[in-house]
Amino acid sequence: MDHFLYRDGALYAEDVPISEIAAAVGTPFYVYSSATLLRHFKLFDEALEGTDHLVCYAMKAASNQAILKTLAQAGAGMDVVSQGEYLRAKAAGVPGEKIVFSGVGKTAEEIRVALTGGIRQFNVESEPEMAVINTVALELGTVAPITIRVNPDVDAKTHAKIATGKSENKFGIPISRAKEVYALAASLPGLEVVGIDCHIGSQLTDLEPFRLAYEKVAELTEVLRAEGHNIRRLDLGGGLGIPYERSNEAPPLPVEYGQLIKDTLGHLGCEIEIEPGRLIAGNAGLMISKVIYVKSGEGRDFLIVDGAMNDLIRPAMYEAHHDIVPVNEPAPGTESQPYDIVGPVCETGDTFAKQRALAPLSAGDLIAFRSAGAYGAVMASEYNSRPLIPEVLVHEDQFAVIRQRPTFDEMINRDTIPEWL
Ligand SMILES: *Cc1c(COP(=O)(O)O)cnc(C)c1O
Repeated sequence: MDHFLYRDGALYAEDVPISEIAAAVGTPFYVYSSATLLRHFKLFDEALEGTDHLVCYAMKAASNQAILKTLAQAGAGMDVVSQGEYLRAKAAGVPGEKIVFSGVGKTAEEIRVALTGGIRQFNVESEPEMAVINTVALELGTVAPITIRVNPDVDAKTHAKIATGKSENKFGIPISRAKEVYALAASLPGLEVVGIDCHIGSQLTDLEPFRLAYEKVAELTEVLRAEGHNIRRLDLGGGLGIPYERSNEAPPLPVEYGQLIKDTLGHLGCEIEIEPGRLIAGNAGLMISKVIYVKSGEGRDFLIVDGAMNDLIRPAMYEAHHDIVPVNEPAPGTESQPYDIVGPVCETGDTFAKQRALAPLSAGDLIAFRSAGAYGAVMASEYNSRPLIPEVLVHEDQFAVIRQRPTFDEMINRDTIPEWL
């Protein structure tokens, strides 16, 4: 459920008409609903009720400071994957003890910044990284709390570009080598092992891969405890999928996911961390775009819209589906017609949907790309010298621009000319 509904034939974000925002900020733009972000965070928080837990929002999904602050004020921790994300989390007021640092390529500098500023734990992905964390911690005269990310070798049954838990993926260490790597960690004085980490992929629409992975984590917990490691925290990653195509998808609910966690891991008495990103932000955001032209091709009609692949790259990158709806609700009984919906960028890949049935549209009409809140604005670029599009946050009947659209001059003047020119 989200807070983007029609009222009297007009699409609203909470209590604000989308057309009003479009008139104020111009198109295209992203718009997020505070109530939806908070609702999704609370669904996870409540799903783990009765268990010691922390929901760490995977901020790579949508990392605007206003979004982070909205979630942080509700009690969310953050999962970060770079120094930039770490500093964004701190800037949004998230205390270090609620920030976990994931990612396969943490540099010594990133580790130093996090250890100095405070960190809940590093999720270590390799032995060389472990050695660097140890060295930096000793240099700073401190001890770094760590988990080790194990790769349980399960098939997440998701798009190949977002599956991470198979042995051929770059993430984590093979679970078969965990005993050895934990023994190494325990021998390093700059590290304190606090638990196990596991994240098998994104946009999972079935609980079974999670079950297989968490059963392996449970078994490993017992093995490592028997070896004398104080395993007291289990970080289970993110990855729960969302319905991108509402008419025929019903992925598992957070409450079902929470129950699975309790069933597979509850007996161990560990603190549970989860790192959802997509499910919190995905359906909390829309990209709004305007039709520039309706072009009749041979046997097909194109809607050429002012949003493009540089603004929302998921269809081009993952063949992702986004439901597309008109901002002005068609009258009941209006007949749909098929459109190819494309952006103005000079790439055939700049196609959002093919032969999508929509009520007839004309130049100037507004459309909304649903489920664009996660991996949307954060993946945008200025390809074709199209300035980054603004982000807007709605809270009840208020809205605010939370990232301005740069002017053309600002975009151009980011470049500098060498002296010899
Ligand atoms: C991407 C990622 C997440 C979030 O995944 P979602 O599918 O957005 O929930 C969580 N943890 C790690 C380590 C990740 O890389």
